[in-house]
Amino acid sequence: MKRKRVVVLGATGSIGESTLKVAHDIPERMEIVGLTANSNAQKLAVAANRVRPQSLCLVDESKIDVLRGALEYEPQIFTGEEGLREIACLTNADIVLVAIVGTGGLRPALAAIEAGKDLAVASKEILVMAGEIIMREARDNGVHVLPVDSEHNAIFQCLEGKRSTLNAQRSTSNAESSTLDVGRSPRRSPSTAEAGWTLDVSDVRRIILTASGGPFRETPAKEFANLTPEQALKHPTWTMGRKITIDSATLFNKGLEMIEAHWLFGVEMTRVEVVIHPQSIVHSMVEFSDGSVLAQLSHSDMCFPIQYAVTWPERVPNSLPPLDFGKLGQLEFATPRYDDFPALNLARRAGESGGTLPAVLNAANEVAVVAFLDRQVNFPGIWEIVEEVINRHTRVAHPDLDAILQADQWARAEATGFVKSLKR
Ligand code: NAD
Ligand code: MG
Repeated sequence: MKRKRVVVLGATGSIGESTLKVAHDIPERMEIVGLTANSNAQKLAVAANRVRPQSLCLVDESKIDVLRGALEYEPQIFTGEEGLREIACLTNADIVLVAIVGTGGLRPALAAIEAGKDLAVASKEILVMAGEIIMREARDNGVHVLPVDSEHNAIFQCLEGKRSTLNAQRSTSNAESSTLDVGRSPRRSPSTAEAGWTLDVSDVRRIILTASGGPFRETPAKEFANLTPEQALKHPTWTMGRKITIDSATLFNKGLEMIEAHWLFGVEMTRVEVVIHPQSIVHSMVEFSDGSVLAQLSHSDMCFPIQYAVTWPERVPNSLPPLDFGKLGQLEFATPRYDDFPALNLARRAGESGGTLPAVLNAANEVAVVAFLDRQVNFPGIWEIVEEVINRHTRVAHPDLDAILQADQWARAEATGFVKSLKR
């Protein structure tokens, strides 16, 4: 197998750090050629000095001197949002791993696709916001979109048993078919191994996303109003960035993941379900038409899905710990508390309506999370803000990128205004 050359967008975050660990673990299969950060110049420099990629990007230009001062070699340095797009198109890169929190990764991801790079996507927000456009662009450019989110990576692995060599033909005639790669009018020629590879979801009855339930899985709803950011930031099974950790506490993370699955795998929202699984060992499941269910299991460490997204279609040995079933104890499953955690129904509503509504849900949630972390609203206020903003929105069906970005900006302004009114 070829050594994959990877650009990591969001290298200083939680996923970025795990990606660097994976690269260190399988150096013969993975080479980091580009790293980016928003503003943490010092942390970017430390990572760069260790792995020595040829190119770096620091979005915040005011910190460029800190970066240059801390570097022990002379890479090519890009800056600003334009720089992010440029580093996403590096000629010596095979794959761009998007791990920027929020929506900042959207334009660089589209630029990478346009340049013929495969995408490994951790940033679920960009798929929620513009999944239709990203998947269509990927198809048109003959590139793969590989899921890094652990649930989607699990589903991807379960569906791989359904690879079909005939699908290239079928998918050309049906743009809505469920494919991560269709090879339609590719700008670069896919290798023989890649050509015609698609996922077949015609036999999929349900996609079942597992959710840990977050830190408040068993907390009575009457206590929600008094929950603090510190309590919400203590996730029981995963160590992650602040935004996704709050999303896990509200269950908006799982709501966003339902919409993410809808676009990645081309299945209707009605076929996407959620089950609570507190141990985070079963990362998701696929139920087929004959009633058989496939699941993917591993420890809750993002290195597993990151490695698979990068080395796909190969499996590569590593130093990650195996599961010891004797010590695992019980694996439990339960129905979510839909009434107490309204995020799942709000996300289902946005995903089923489609158009600009998922972008609005996502943007309102981002504003609400910041407001909660800043103690401007209480914990249930996050759901309240999102519901209010999606109620106020006039949906645009099949929006282009401009319409999506406009809806995103509109929702941020509405949510910010609503936060102010709540504080009064
Ligand atoms: P994080 O907050 O730890 O890191 C975010 C990274 O994005 C940093 O490198 C930061 O410099 C960069 N960044 C932030 N804003 C930016 C901007 N405007 N422009 C450019 N760069 C910017 O976040 P994380 O937990 O690593 O999550 C990253 C993404 O991956 C999120 O979309 C999250 O939902 C998704 N994800 C994370 C996990 C996890 O375990 N952490 C699991 C699944 C999915
Ligand atoms: Mg996830």
